[in-house]
Amino acid sequence: MLGDGILKGMAETARNFFGSYVSKERLTTVEYPEQRIPTAENARVFPFLVYDGTDWEAGMRCVACQICEKECPPKCIYIDKSTDKKPDYVGKPQFYPARFDIDISVCMSCQICVEVCPFEAIKMDTQFELATDDRFGGLLYDRKELSRSNEYYHAIHPTEAAEVDARLAEEKAKVEAKAKAAAEAAAAKAAAAATQPAAPAKADSSGLAATAPEAASLTDATKPAGGGS
Ligand code: SF4
Ligand code: SF4
Repeated sequence: MLGDGILKGMAETARNFFGSYVSKERLTTVEYPEQRIPTAENARVFPFLVYDGTDWEAGMRCVACQICEKECPPKCIYIDKSTDKKPDYVGKPQFYPARFDIDISVCMSCQICVEVCPFEAIKMDTQFELATDDRFGGLLYDRKELSRSNEYYHAIHPTEAAEVDARLAEEKAKVEAKAKAAAEAAAAKAAAAATQPAAPAKADSSGLAATAPEAASLTDATKPAGGGS
């Protein structure tokens, strides 16, 4: 019937409107900021940088590969790669961002930086109360302001953070197993080299091979008596 969809839509709207007077589930607004609705686990606002451990600088996962900087649609990420390296979570020396800024006033919360990061180093925060009267500097966040611990990541996105931890632990176990296998192979090679018999001495002009003590006594015999040179 013509207009069937419109009537159904109006009926649904009316059901929600009148239902909101009697049903708590239909109340979609609260008296913010005194009242707050719990943040959904998959909510996203602006990005933050994840660090492991207690030191944000030492534990920063970002290796300054700059993929996110290149892929960010409005180009609001600014990274300067370090000139030295520091160990990453598996102990491998890696570059780190000497500068990592995000202009939050430009960021459009698209999450592309998160999707393209190969190191699980950047994630989306749920914090939205960021108002400031400093239009420019106040919303340009540096690496320290952007850093949040892995515990914080677990608190706001528990399911996703647990999956990431499992993935990183698996990767770390693989790297450790490979390093252990390489060390064992090197030790076995060294042990095999140590147990190999010494190479036979070179034969002299008569075709006879001399042992080391014999060679020494032969040398002594050719020396002039009295030990002079
Ligand atoms: S969320 Fe989107 S716009 Fe914001 S920094 Fe990441 S890539 Fe750029
Ligand atoms: S956040 Fe990820 S993608 Fe961006 S520079 Fe760091 S490691 Fe690379």
